[in-house]
Amino acid sequence: MQHDILIIGSGFGGQCAAINLLKRGITDFRLLERRDFMGGTWCQNSYPGAAVDVQSPLYSISFEPYQWSQMFVEQAELEEYTNFVIDKYTLRERTVTNCNVEQVRWDEGDRRWVLSTSQGELRARIVINASGPLSTPVIPNFPGRDSFRGVTFHTNAWNHDVSLKGKRVAIIGSGASAAQAIPAIAPECGHLHVFQRTPHWVMPRPDRRFSKVERALLGIKPLHKALRTAIYWELETRVVGFKYSPWALQQFAQKAALRHIEKQIAAPALRAKVTPDYTIGCKRIILSNTLYPALCRDNVSLHTKGSGIAEITPTGIRTTDGQDIELDVIIYSTGYDATDGVISYPVLGKGGRALKDFWAEYPRAYLGTTMPGFPNFFVVTGPNTGIGHTSAIFVIEAQMNYIMKSLDALKQRDKALLEVTPAAEADYTGMIHREMEQTVWKSGGCNSWYQSKSGHVIAMFPGFSFTYRQLANRFKPEHHVFS
Ligand SMILES: Cc1cc2nc3c(=O)[nH]c(=O)nc-3n(C[C@H](O)[C@H](O)[C@H](O)COP(=O)(O)OP(=O)(O)OC[C@H]3O[C@@H](n4cnc5c(N)ncnc54)[C@H](O)[C@@H]3O)c2cc1C
Repeated sequence: MQHDILIIGSGFGGQCAAINLLKRGITDFRLLERRDFMGGTWCQNSYPGAAVDVQSPLYSISFEPYQWSQMFVEQAELEEYTNFVIDKYTLRERTVTNCNVEQVRWDEGDRRWVLSTSQGELRARIVINASGPLSTPVIPNFPGRDSFRGVTFHTNAWNHDVSLKGKRVAIIGSGASAAQAIPAIAPECGHLHVFQRTPHWVMPRPDRRFSKVERALLGIKPLHKALRTAIYWELETRVVGFKYSPWALQQFAQKAALRHIEKQIAAPALRAKVTPDYTIGCKRIILSNTLYPALCRDNVSLHTKGSGIAEITPTGIRTTDGQDIELDVIIYSTGYDATDGVISYPVLGKGGRALKDFWAEYPRAYLGTTMPGFPNFFVVTGPNTGIGHTSAIFVIEAQMNYIMKSLDALKQRDKALLEVTPAAEADYTGMIHREMEQTVWKSGGCNSWYQSKSGHVIAMFPGFSFTYRQLANRFKPEHHVFS
């Protein structure tokens, strides 16, 4: 199989790339998906309680509004929306599922990329990587991890065949997925042990169901757009705190989060356990009205640093303070290979240079998308394109402007290849990390998956999302070499 363009991944990133190509009349492409189903995040993460944490009218493709049932919809509705988009744009017939990309290598003689996949070798002039920033789950190598005789799974691959009713369950991790799963499963577990390494700041979730009339109104495109725009600007104001005013973050957001703890938790010991010691926003803020009440339940125990995991035993977990906790099920909510492993397969560029070597110090890319020495290779949701305060889809759509304008520029010049210059990439990355210095992600006093092992914050864009979009919109030919 040979196509001019191959897109790796079929989540919103892959879908937006494919739709943008179709809108330009380009049909010589395929999406490659390692799973046996399409759709990415919301078709994969079906854990109880899974829901979006950005208001749905904004967490959607800008030109594909939907009649959402509530402000923050649950996973099933996002799966439905994802499939609606896939079908509307006939993407299913343009996708090869069960096709795991294992390596991507530049062939200098052929001036094409060679993709080694679980379905054999494929070639393409242009590769759009949309393999997802949070799609490869990670389970830390706890001592004795494989000795446990009960059931284990990751929240990313929830085992719905296992009933938790009356069982002794542990959930390891307390991030965004755990915060949603804990309240959903606590009532049915016999006992639920929550292992928290670092607490997150939690804010109330301003959710509400839309009435029939409101849903009908959401079906009118300009009204959907008006609501989306209002939400967008409200969320954008948070950047002022994240970047320019830790004082405002502490005075307003952090105080509101402290009031949330006081309102929902009576016991001083539990309050202390869930109160972070870093500035709010340094790690992703969790929105939940149900997490703290779940932690207050009699059948839930919260284990923190003092009684963390020493080892996993055949029958459960031995804690650092010497307790032996007997368990039937261990659920890992331990996150993703998100920072130093931005791409889920090795990439070898010009001269056989590995992307991991170019990224040896930390992942970096011009507009978070292109790297010198890797012609016609575009990374969706690449380094420093993450956004803590608004919809990831907004950024994905902004990246599409840059990618599509790059393809237009090639066509206009009747050239086959485009490559960002080393100087342009270095200038851009320099600007990103200078701007990052003043952000709460750099100075807020926490360790998070936003940072690479080198200490550089490589997940987040240090500014307003509209600034990123402006940069991505203005294609600069002088920053590229065409051949
Ligand atoms: C549980 C969860 C909740 C989230 N909630 C929010 C939220 O509320 N708001 C927000 O803005 N963002 C949220 N995100 C972030 C989310 O990743 C983005 O919003 C968005 O879905 C990313 O889309 P994507 O297409 O880039 O990645 P994904 O949706 O992850 O899709 C990537 C696809 O690539 C495939 N793939 C990966 N590697 C290969 C390979 N080697 N070969 C072939 N196929 C491959 C994967 O199987 C997957 O289908 C959440 C993420 C998770 C995991």
